[in-house]
Amino acid sequence: MAAERDPGGPAFACDAMCGGLARWLRALGYDATFSPRIDDGELVRQARGEGRILISSDSRLFERRAIRLGEVKSCFLPRGMKMLDQVRFVVSRLGLTVRDPRCMACGGELERVDAAEVGDRVPARSLVWATEFFECRRCGRVFWNGTHWRRIDAVRRAAGEWTAAP
Ligand SMILES: [Zn+2]
Repeated sequence: MAAERDPGGPAFACDAMCGGLARWLRALGYDATFSPRIDDGELVRQARGEGRILISSDSRLFERRAIRLGEVKSCFLPRGMKMLDQVRFVVSRLGLTVRDPRCMACGGELERVDAAEVGDRVPARSLVWATEFFECRRCGRVFWNGTHWRRIDAVRRAAGEWTAAP
C-alpha cells in the first residue's frame, strides 16, 4: 500500500473531465493533479503510486480492480453538477478543511513575497493597489490580491461552511 502523503492532508488525482474541480481543490490548499489526456489505466496507476484519492464521474473507472479492492482510494462525483457544486460535494463528502491556498495552475505551494521581488511580473496598475503577493514554488507564477482573488476568497470562505455540512 502506498505511504500516506504529507500530514497536511490528502492529495487528489482528478480525471480528465474534472480540471475545474482540480483547480478549486488547489485553491482550497490541496495538491490535485489533472491531465486532459490521461487514460483510465494511467490515472489509476498514478493515484496508487502517489497515494492520491481518485476523483471521477466515470462509473466504468470504479469497476477497476484496484478501486474495487480499495487499493486506490476514490470518490465518485455524480454527473451533471455545476463546478461549485462539485467542490461542495467533495469538501463535505471528505470533510476537507480549508488550508493555505496552492497555485491554481499547477498545485504548487505558494510563498509570500515582496512586491519588489515580483514587480517585473505584475501589471503596473496592480502593483499600485495590491498588498499581498505570492509566488508559486513549482511553476513560478505570481499571484496577488486582485479581482480574481476576491472570487477565490469567497469560495474559500464558503468551503469553510461546507466542511461542516451533513
Ligand atoms: Zn504553480
